[in-house]
Amino acid sequence: MLFLKIFSILDDMRDISLDREANRLSKKQLLESWDLTKSSELYGIETWGAGYFNVSPDGEVTISASTNSHKNTPVPIVDIIEGIKERGLEPPILLRIENLLDNQITMLNESFQRAIKTLEYKGDYRGVFPIKVNQQEQVIDEITMFGRRYHHGLEAGSKAELIAALAMLEDPEACLICNGYKDAEFIDLALNALKIGYSCFLVIERPGELELILERAAQLHVDPRIGVRLKLSSKVGGNWSESGGDRSIFGLTTSQLIDVVDRLKETGQLPCLQLLHYHLGSQIPNIRDIRQGVLEASRFYADLVSEGAPMGYFDLGGGLAVDYDGSQTNYVHSKNYSLDEYTSDVIEVVLSVLDETGVPHPTIITESGRSTVAYYSVLIVNVLDSAQFKPKPQIIPEPDDSMPEQIINLLQISTDLTVKNIQECFNDAIFYRDEIRQRFRLGQISLRERSMGESIFLKTIEQIARTAKSMKRKMPGLDGLDEALSDVYYANFSIFQSLPDSWAIDQVFPIMPIHRLKEEPTRHAVVADITCDCDGVIDRFVDLHDEKKTLLLHELRSNEEYYLGFFLVGAYQETLGDLHNLFGDTNVVSVRLEPDGTFSIVKEIEGDSIADVLSYVEYDPKKLLSQYRKRAEQAVRHQMITPKERMLMVKNFEESLRGYTYFENHR
Ligand SMILES: *Cc1c(COP(=O)(O)O)cnc(C)c1O
Repeated sequence: MLFLKIFSILDDMRDISLDREANRLSKKQLLESWDLTKSSELYGIETWGAGYFNVSPDGEVTISASTNSHKNTPVPIVDIIEGIKERGLEPPILLRIENLLDNQITMLNESFQRAIKTLEYKGDYRGVFPIKVNQQEQVIDEITMFGRRYHHGLEAGSKAELIAALAMLEDPEACLICNGYKDAEFIDLALNALKIGYSCFLVIERPGELELILERAAQLHVDPRIGVRLKLSSKVGGNWSESGGDRSIFGLTTSQLIDVVDRLKETGQLPCLQLLHYHLGSQIPNIRDIRQGVLEASRFYADLVSEGAPMGYFDLGGGLAVDYDGSQTNYVHSKNYSLDEYTSDVIEVVLSVLDETGVPHPTIITESGRSTVAYYSVLIVNVLDSAQFKPKPQIIPEPDDSMPEQIINLLQISTDLTVKNIQECFNDAIFYRDEIRQRFRLGQISLRERSMGESIFLKTIEQIARTAKSMKRKMPGLDGLDEALSDVYYANFSIFQSLPDSWAIDQVFPIMPIHRLKEEPTRHAVVADITCDCDGVIDRFVDLHDEKKTLLLHELRSNEEYYLGFFLVGAYQETLGDLHNLFGDTNVVSVRLEPDGTFSIVKEIEGDSIADVLSYVEYDPKKLLSQYRKRAEQAVRHQMITPKERMLMVKNFEESLRGYTYFENHR
């Protein structure tokens, strides 16, 4: 299967490579001039790394959790990986760095506190973490632990999330926000939470929910704390814009909102209306859109107060973006504002609208998920192999008349190539290569002739690449050359399991080697996973100015691991992942960086075994084993294998069931 994939990628991407000789030459020339700064620039780590990720003088990516109040000696990621391997866990490993989560929660809360103080806002700030962004128990556990000192709460969008929140959240002053569509059971859970002391709000998403809430509240003898979710007309740019705007599937229209107010007045329960909520969508790259949303919603808030509702809480939802490419622009994978700009803009807009109308300042809530957890997780994978597409010089012939015309034409290109006609030669080479493939399909060219043609093509392209490199001016028409020369690096992971957004919505994540950064990377590459799916390839990479189609990587060395890090993968990736080809959850290791540059392993969660993933799709591992035993026994009876062979085969089967779903190097 892997073999098939090589060919499909080969066909799609026109992968060819420079020959060894040329490589060695350019390496030698460039080795002197390559340094760490060049690596940092190439991979952009200083821009997207947010100070957490850096390059050490030894050429290794380090993690640092320094804040204003305490310094932290940076720790190389390879050291952590080696430490984990010594303890028996293999890559792929999802590293969670506790300190980064702690820092992100601290920074969010302190930035709001600063803005509140500076602008003399009279209300408070309460953050809540939306569980859907990363539901893993350990993550929610750490968020409630680190958030305690700021009364950081949780947002639940379903019964299951609410049940998790109820178990994890202990702080009565932290908010517990219930969004999502609600049935009686969901409502009862929330009302009971209120009864035992949680600050639990039921946010109405659909008009019908109000009656059910009132009915259940009467039954349980509790005054509900009700919120309303607004459909704003403000629209935002970015990948997730559909969450906001008139046509949003969530929230109440203005007339539905009036109905809710009137109904509450009618039953004398208007005092229960305490919160206004909206959510414009995730990853909002432009601060103008954020201000626009707050402005519109603040008007609603003020008018609800003048209608006689007590209110007191104003929940602005999520949207605080992550700068994945480090460009600080309003591009979809970036953001054109800092955290401090976000918090002070929010406070300033609310303040100005409410002061105008004399409305008391509410407690402001935000539901930041992405920016809270994105930095916290790094996926580390080992590269298993690379495919470089090299010509075989021994099969390249002298032209002779008995050859197919396309091959003769291909051979002619090398002779004709000059700086002046380089563009034409590049186009011709591709044309004749495709012609040869076409005629092979029609049966007019033999396998050996096709193979000869491919080799001549590779050699010609290398020659073109060398010529292009020697030219002062960059030829615009040769843009595809790097891609045409790119290798495929096979990495030990599944995109569908670990980076679903990369596949589903073309999200780009920063990817780079975590060591060897003193050396110049010389191979243009795309990164393929080990699923048998042609979509299991990453061929878009972050770049300050544009997206790149290939990533420069180092030549692999035999008997030496080469590790890639996939950064900023803490938000949305874990639960969206699926079991494509039955690759399961990776090993997860949570570490805490200590101030002296050491680290402690806080928690290890072993990834799925093969038996685990098979049972997810309803196989019974015990039954599988007994069926296999039976088959093997039949083979013994027919004298195809000996009983001893059977024993070893059954043992191998059993061990495989217990094993990791990814490549294991130690066997
Ligand atoms: C998804 C979601 C969020 C999280 O948004 P981020 O952009 O990740 O901060 C917050 N609130 C609601 C209602 C959501 O659906």
